[in-house]
Amino acid sequence: MPELPEVELYCRYFAEHGLHQRVAAVHVLDERILGVRNAALKKAVVGREFTQVRRHGKHLFADAGSSWLHLHFGMSGDLFYYDNDSAQPRFARVVFEFDNGSRLAYDDMRLFGVVGVTPGPDAFLAEHRLGPDPISSGFRLPVFRTIVHGRRGAVKSLLMTQEIIAGMGNLYVDETLYRASIHPRRAVDALSDAEVEAIYTGIRGVLKEAIAFKSRGGDYPVKWLTQHREEGDRCPRCGGTIQRTVVFGRTTYFCAKHQV
Ligand SMILES: [Zn+2]
Repeated sequence: MPELPEVELYCRYFAEHGLHQRVAAVHVLDERILGVRNAALKKAVVGREFTQVRRHGKHLFADAGSSWLHLHFGMSGDLFYYDNDSAQPRFARVVFEFDNGSRLAYDDMRLFGVVGVTPGPDAFLAEHRLGPDPISSGFRLPVFRTIVHGRRGAVKSLLMTQEIIAGMGNLYVDETLYRASIHPRRAVDALSDAEVEAIYTGIRGVLKEAIAFKSRGGDYPVKWLTQHREEGDRCPRCGGTIQRTVVFGRTTYFCAKHQV
């Protein structure tokens, strides 16, 4: 499932291949993926160039002049850039064809993603009441402290709520709390200043390192909790026992010894 690190890589891929060339045609191969009418999508992008891309959480936006293309990757969305039709990916749902014949396909086997159009990223974020992007330059420690202040409930639930922080998925929240040595059920209003800072540092570190590992095509290190998501496994950090529970309706793993 594409999480924030994958969407960041899709954003870079779009920027590398899909910008500054005129869109000659848009081929909609499956209308179920559209968040707008087919005609509205074509009107927004055909004859135009994408000039910049922007990611916020798990949403990708591409500037098409008077409006922006919006992509969400659902459970299995992906992008493929190729030169000729024979290379079209199997589950291509929308194909952007450029003047030189090359194409950018939005591929999505499971059809939980969205290809849409929005007046702009800021309008979209306001409409959907999405919180700040956790690796954006504006997401600083004081911002996070303000977000946390006055909240209640389990810390994992807070980090999973898209209106509070956009794009933190289940794996990355567990990894963050593992790194910060905080139990996923800890009450937010009982966190010390140092613990809030440890969570903030954990969020940024986990996501940025995940992007770096993914961009090199490598797997995550064995010291990451992600590599030990099995009940009874041994914590690589302290030797404690990995336990499984459910928080925010999601399967959650943590070390019973060092996460308190
Ligand atoms: Zn441990």
